[in-house]
Amino acid sequence: MSAIQIQHVSRHFGNNIALEDVQLEVREGEFFSLLGPSGCGKSTLLNIIAGFLKPTSGFISIGGQDVTDLPPYHRNCGMVFQDYALFPHLNVFENVAYGLKIQKMPRQKLKERVVESLSLVHLEKYAKRMPHQLSGGQRQRVAIARALAVQPSVLLLDEPLSNLDAKLRKEMQFELRRIQKRVGITTILVTHDQEEALSLSDRIGVLGNGRLQQLGAPLDVYRKPANRFVAEFIGQVNLLEARAEERQDSTGAYRYEVPGFEVREGVPLSFEVSRNVLKKPYSSVLFMLRPERISIWLNHPPEGSENRRRVTLTDVSYIGNAIRLKAAFAKGELIIQVPDPHFPKLPKPGDEMYIAWEPEDLVPLEIKEDEHGCR
Ligand code: ADP
Repeated sequence: MSAIQIQHVSRHFGNNIALEDVQLEVREGEFFSLLGPSGCGKSTLLNIIAGFLKPTSGFISIGGQDVTDLPPYHRNCGMVFQDYALFPHLNVFENVAYGLKIQKMPRQKLKERVVESLSLVHLEKYAKRMPHQLSGGQRQRVAIARALAVQPSVLLLDEPLSNLDAKLRKEMQFELRRIQKRVGITTILVTHDQEEALSLSDRIGVLGNGRLQQLGAPLDVYRKPANRFVAEFIGQVNLLEARAEERQDSTGAYRYEVPGFEVREGVPLSFEVSRNVLKKPYSSVLFMLRPERISIWLNHPPEGSENRRRVTLTDVSYIGNAIRLKAAFAKGELIIQVPDPHFPKLPKPGDEMYIAWEPEDLVPLEIKEDEHGCR
């Protein structure tokens, strides 16, 4: 069942189109992320769901009820912001109790609910502390406890971890996931952090230029991006603008060449694409090749691999759990990522080696029609 329906929602600010015809459903109990670069319309959409902004056109329904014209306090959404938005003059207990007091909840029940909410975020012992006596991570836990205390039907999170340092951010990501699963609440997270969205979400909606670019599970948006925008935004990527070669492979695979890449002067990079990747040949295709899909050999090329080439390293960066390389042909460069430890000792720019990839690792992103006019 869908908990939230966003139907043809657009939002214009004067001439600026922040959202254009966004259509999506968030399922009951789902952890859903709205992911995209800064300015793509994520917060605008979250604020429209919360009721802080009205759409220029379109509808929002929550739990089957059209809430498009309802004010925020009638939508039963809990919200957590990037800057925590705690009341500085109230202690932790009073902050969490705030919404319950407005609801005029009886004292004993209120106390039980606050204790329950604080224990959910592991802050029972901090009830008497003031916000300024807490770390960033603890403050964000209080904000989550406060949002959940009123038992909303939907939890909306607007970049809640952006103010935390990298290590704490990772810890809080686990915490968020644990809390969400424990409570089972339908949750929408707004984030510009690909890794955060991939690791936390059941499904992701990728926004770009105010439009929904792709809707899918983390594995799908990473492995099968809908277009160039999604491929480039989620992770690192090599893009190869290829055109069909005249000759067809004896194995029945299709051959493509990349005019922008040359293995020797005047000789374009060419490769085979199996029928598992493309059902038929097209006149030109933009392929994606993820850096971690390229394998590397120091001294000799792998046996039997068609897509193997000799390259010269132009850049080597060690990032702890992996090594990122740039490898150049006579013309054109690829990014490669191999897990550490891969090399006995770190290679250096200027070193020559062999690279290879499997035909299935080439993912077609944009296809141009062939001469028969078929896609
Ligand atoms: P994101 O959350 O993805 O960073 P926003 O939803 O905040 O993006 O903004 C989307 C676009 O709408 C941006 O171009 C932004 O400048 C514009 N925008 C957002 N709020 C307003 C506003 N109140 N007035 C005018 N333009 C706005």
